[in-house]
Amino acid sequence: MPLNKQKIKEDLEKERDVLVGQMGDMGKMNPETGEWEAQPEAQDFPEADSNDQADRFEEYESRSSMIKDLGNRLKNILFSIKNINKVSFGKCTVCGKEIELARMKANPAATTCKKHLEN
Ligand SMILES: [Zn+2]
Repeated sequence: MPLNKQKIKEDLEKERDVLVGQMGDMGKMNPETGEWEAQPEAQDFPEADSNDQADRFEEYESRSSMIKDLGNRLKNILFSIKNINKVSFGKCTVCGKEIELARMKANPAATTCKKHLEN
């Protein structure tokens, strides 16, 4: 059965909007680099002790890594939305067969089927 590109595109666009929302809660896009960066939480207590400072830093670190993961996912999704109407979209570059839908969902920018994942 051929991939339902319209459905995939709708799903991707929904996920894109969710991702952009999540990322907007944690950081913002640097207009110069186009990369998303975590924003440190506002300092409510300027006299915070060093434990608080350490917590804050950890929190910032985990936001940074989360926003990086989300950003990579977003890049894949935007790439797929852009290329979805190409004949080659959703086809394995090794064997030319349709890529499994589950794999496309896991990685919308996948260019190989499960069998050729390792190559
Ligand atoms: Zn293949």
